[in-house]
Amino acid sequence: MTETEVEQVVKKYFENQFPRFSTSQQCGVQFGVKQGIADVVLHQPIRDETGYFVAIAEGKTSPLPIPRAQARAQLKSYMSATNAQYGVLAVGTDPGNWEFCENKYNNWFAQINQEDFERGIEKWKPMSARISHLWKRIALFLGVLFIVSILSLLLLWPDPPEPVVYITETGRKYHTYNCNFLKQYADGKFAIYLGEAEKNYAPCQICSPHRAEKSR
Ligand SMILES: [Zn+2]
Repeated sequence: MTETEVEQVVKKYFENQFPRFSTSQQCGVQFGVKQGIADVVLHQPIRDETGYFVAIAEGKTSPLPIPRAQARAQLKSYMSATNAQYGVLAVGTDPGNWEFCENKYNNWFAQINQEDFERGIEKWKPMSARISHLWKRIALFLGVLFIVSILSLLLLWPDPPEPVVYITETGRKYHTYNCNFLKQYADGKFAIYLGEAEKNYAPCQICSPHRAEKSR
């Protein structure tokens, strides 16, 4: 078994498992000013553009000819350089012996199982779509926050104080404080809330307290 044979098995696996993406073998990857070759690449092509790297596989013969840590580091460097979200360290042609990992970005890689790898790629979206999704959530959150603050302002806003009008001991009318008619009752004047006054008294025709107080 050669490394090329392992790569071909990975390529077949990618093609069968993820038909909505393209698979290529021995794909050039730019590392800053240097070029490297990724063994097998799963990507989403965009017309007239390079497209997005979805997954990168590093094929190795079994048993591993180099230390495992070194093989992992090699795969991770390709994933970092391409922003690929998923990676496979394919040691030999049996997928049961392969290592699957997810790029959590900022140089953090999580080892995942084959099932999560396949499910993740099924749901894969380009980074730009993931970011715009995040922005939509932030906008929704801010919108809800805005509505809640307006509603709570409306609910908690203090009611304006009930206006006060004046009645006399014997009269059947209520008045404003400055009513000319009321002035002769300087001593017998009682303050009462307009709401209460409306129940038992009629507004004075001279000062018309109802209109004056309510239109404030
Ligand atoms: Zn009056």
